[in-house]
Amino acid sequence: MKQRLALLGSTGSIGCQTLDIVRRRPEEFEITTLTAGSRWESLVLQAREFQPDSVVIADERYYENVREALAGEPIKVYAGSEALSQVVTGGEVDTVVNALVGYAGLMPTVSAIKKSKKIALANKETLVVAGELVMRLAEQHRAPILPIDSEHSAIFQCLIGERAPLRRLIITCSGGSLRDLPIEALKDVTPEQALKHPQWTMGAKITIDSSTLVNKGFEVIEAAWLFGLDADKISVLIHPQSVIHSMVEFEDGAIKAQLGTPDMHMPISFALMYPQRAQRDEHFSFADNPTLTFAEVDRVKYPALDIAYHCLRSGGTAACTMNGANEVAVAAFLAHKCGYLDIVRTIEYALDRAENIKKPTLEDYAAADLESRRLAREFLKIKE
Ligand code: NDP
Ligand code: MG
Repeated sequence: MKQRLALLGSTGSIGCQTLDIVRRRPEEFEITTLTAGSRWESLVLQAREFQPDSVVIADERYYENVREALAGEPIKVYAGSEALSQVVTGGEVDTVVNALVGYAGLMPTVSAIKKSKKIALANKETLVVAGELVMRLAEQHRAPILPIDSEHSAIFQCLIGERAPLRRLIITCSGGSLRDLPIEALKDVTPEQALKHPQWTMGAKITIDSSTLVNKGFEVIEAAWLFGLDADKISVLIHPQSVIHSMVEFEDGAIKAQLGTPDMHMPISFALMYPQRAQRDEHFSFADNPTLTFAEVDRVKYPALDIAYHCLRSGGTAACTMNGANEVAVAAFLAHKCGYLDIVRTIEYALDRAENIKKPTLEDYAAADLESRRLAREFLKIKE
């Protein structure tokens, strides 16, 4: 039987790489749903190729364009963000690949969990915003969550077969696009500069998040929820070559690592095929990569990492606030509406003013998200 995938965010970086995998293994996978935010032309091309049962265009302004373009095809067309939560629930879906970016990924994950679907999760914001609630629901509904994020996939792979307690996780970090830039130069960084990641080609938002280390902070939070660990047991290590994708240290001092070429096809296919592995042509050469180096994170240059640790330790809606403010600030930075250093300042402004709601419900998270966005716009002096 083929594994039937609902692929949310199919037009993005992870979405397109997931489709590469499906294209190469038509005997194993079938696509039931494809979704895009606003890039409707790409969605239409994908729909013609993969013939899903349905597509969703989240931005309702493009509904007619998609409907007309697919008029001759037996494909249902939906629009709006609520449709994203609905298309994942159908009986024809085995696995939900959540490759959405940002807070938008939360509700579809929750909806899929409630139907006990397997979830291949790239959308780390789901766990950053509402990790406590999401993991509780996943356990209750026996919905497996398999990480696509390369560091978490690495940790997951290192933990297979292990039962002994962990001493710590070591999450590796390339250092992002501004790694070699002195701290004094950060104030003048342009979006174009920050978008050039040395190792990975990714969506714009995560590339900026990688440069500020907000992404690494989010990965610490994501790891805490996925693997049930306290903040104190999770460390971050700069590793510019991105060959070691992360490590696990046990109480006896043994350290396990997962290595390979930086290529998201590996963790995506692993999340889809676990406990099997894909047959891939990749052959990593140690001789061609003789130097693996490591360094501590410069906590002064990258304050976002400690802010994320603080949010994780605070619990409640703190990380949700950090995420919402960051989303607004990154979008503003990309649109040349604020400076690079304003991203972290916006997060600090929102965290200083937002109420931290303990034991939040889904509605509390939604309210905290809205409030953090309002605070971020207030700080940046920008309109809706
Ligand atoms: P992209 O920006 O490339 O793609 C995001 C996808 O989500 C696109 O299909 C986009 O549609 C859609 N989308 C964006 N906003 C909305 C919205 N409000 N409602 C509905 N759909 C929306 O992101 P990435 O693929 O880079 O990242 C996806 C997730 O995976 C993120 O959470 C990221 O942190 C995580 N991740 C990514 C990695 C990577 O290598 N790219 C590595 C590890 C994790 P449209 O194309 O129309 O804009
Ligand atoms: Mg990652």
